[in-house]
Amino acid sequence: MPLFSLSMSCNHCVSPACLKNCPAAAYDKDPGTGAVTIDASRCLGCKYCTWACPYDAPRYNAARGVIEKCDFCIERQEKGKTPACVCACPTKALRIGDYDETGETQTIAGFTKSGLRPAIRFKELRKHQQVPETTAPPAKESVARLFESSQHIPEPKIKLRAEWVLLLFTTLAALLVSWLTVMLPTPSAINPYIFLGAGALGLGLSSVHLGKKQRAFRAIFNIKSSWLSREILFFSLFLGLSAAYLLFFPGVPGFGRAAVAIGFISLFCIDRIYQVAMQVGPLNFHSAHTLLNGLYLTGALMGNGLIFGLMGGLKLFLYLYRKLYFKRTGRKIRPLVSFLRLSTGFLVPLILLAVNPGTLINYYGYIIISVIIGEVIDRTEYYDEIDIVTPRKQMLLDLETALP
Ligand code: SF4
Ligand code: SF4
Repeated sequence: MPLFSLSMSCNHCVSPACLKNCPAAAYDKDPGTGAVTIDASRCLGCKYCTWACPYDAPRYNAARGVIEKCDFCIERQEKGKTPACVCACPTKALRIGDYDETGETQTIAGFTKSGLRPAIRFKELRKHQQVPETTAPPAKESVARLFESSQHIPEPKIKLRAEWVLLLFTTLAALLVSWLTVMLPTPSAINPYIFLGAGALGLGLSSVHLGKKQRAFRAIFNIKSSWLSREILFFSLFLGLSAAYLLFFPGVPGFGRAAVAIGFISLFCIDRIYQVAMQVGPLNFHSAHTLLNGLYLTGALMGNGLIFGLMGGLKLFLYLYRKLYFKRTGRKIRPLVSFLRLSTGFLVPLILLAVNPGTLINYYGYIIISVIIGEVIDRTEYYDEIDIVTPRKQMLLDLETALP
């Protein structure tokens, strides 16, 4: 089998996902050279660009707490020199030239397809370098073993044990928005210090993983295109309006209504942040999406059988559909976890409702606790199931699909 090399540094895309998604507006695109550069003094170390870039180009420097990546040797280019890699490559495998932004995006085996228009061109492999036709292609298992034995399977970028703060924050956000929705007519029933303290805790937790916590304020600098910026802005606004309503103007329902509307927008923004992750199942609509969780919890807290039943039915369908898809495609399923999720989230509330038909109120407390436990399990599974497709992972997926 021939060996061939792919350049896996930054491709200085025409529509760079890193620049679009960075909440701190730390990226720039140089109009002259097309170089996509990062200003480390603006980076807050959230690592979101490492999720957004499908080419795995931005690398987090844990010692500095910021992102680093190829800057196309922009300083050398300003002095009329070629980039260092082009100069140093002993086989002259790299060349720099004009890039036609209107041209077709080139596709090549092993190179992740994206709509970012990466500014790179590949030379076709010469005939004798192309993959030979074989009568006995290697079995999937042997290829997988080869990858495993040579440690080519990369660590997942989204790992539950690393993202537990985000799990807590997103669950808490859904709970607070639904709580305020239900208590809109009777704000005095909410202890404002517990409510606002929980919200502040949520925001604080979401900044624990930042490499540069002192720059957390920069997280809202890219409202124009970053869902992460929008999430932080809208959730902060939700807390601000909630504080105004609960502490100072409980007699002005407009504050409460505005807080609820903005709260639900913030839940929508949370879900959009994860659009850069790989699809989970064919629908790419997860039963643990935060907006769905917020609506389901609202139905449960309100004791509204219609909302509760509709949202619960949708969540149950999405959950079962996904698990069946996993089973069909050989992905890991944890039967005990699924049993716990289904029983706490759906079965127990349904049994309690069957005992007291017509109302959620009698067993209100038990139903709510059971539903919340079910939601936490589902959201935990969410972080366990989603991941980012890197070029290495894409190659493995392509191989698995191509092989018989
Ligand atoms: S390759 Fe990645 S880091 Fe480089 S410009 Fe494209 S999206 Fe940004
Ligand atoms: S602020 Fe976040 S997204 Fe922006 S460059 Fe730094 S780590 Fe990447």
